[in-house]
Amino acid sequence: MTDPIHPKPFWQTKTLAEMSAPEWESLCDGCGKCCLIRLEDDETEEIYTTDAHCQLFDNGSCRCSNYESRKSIVHDCVILKPNNVAALKWMPRTCAYRLLSEGKPLPEWHHLKTGSRDTVHEVGMSVQGATVSEVGLSEEDLMARITVWPGEPGWDD
Ligand code: SF4
Ligand code: SF4
Repeated sequence: MTDPIHPKPFWQTKTLAEMSAPEWESLCDGCGKCCLIRLEDDETEEIYTTDAHCQLFDNGSCRCSNYESRKSIVHDCVILKPNNVAALKWMPRTCAYRLLSEGKPLPEWHHLKTGSRDTVHEVGMSVQGATVSEVGLSEEDLMARITVWPGEPGWDD
């Protein structure tokens, strides 16, 4: 039986596909980890994350600097959708979209739980202020910048 006084929040009652556009957008915690440059090992297909960010990423606000036009500027920017999240195995392990698509709860530091968009930064789960731009970096440079980020594989394994 549902509690009429304390109804469950939308992310616990709706599937990703059932969410409205504002609900969908509100899920993003602003960690910025999906905007980091990743390298794939040709032989093992293993994905490595660097501390270099996409040319459009603003590492102060920890947001895309041109969110509305991002795809036309950065052609390989992946637009998340309910039907592609589960297949994107490189998405950060702490990403709200990934967690919900895997049937997991949002973390306690998520802004929809804390009421503050700062908590993701305060608990060290974002890349705010900790990255450099990809612009001008060679593949060798990027390889030297492979980084294990908080909450991601290798951090606490
Ligand atoms: S990894 Fe997920 S939660 Fe974090 S910024 Fe990207 S889309 Fe938002
Ligand atoms: S274009 Fe924007 S949303 Fe896409 S990866 Fe770059 S900074 Fe992130």
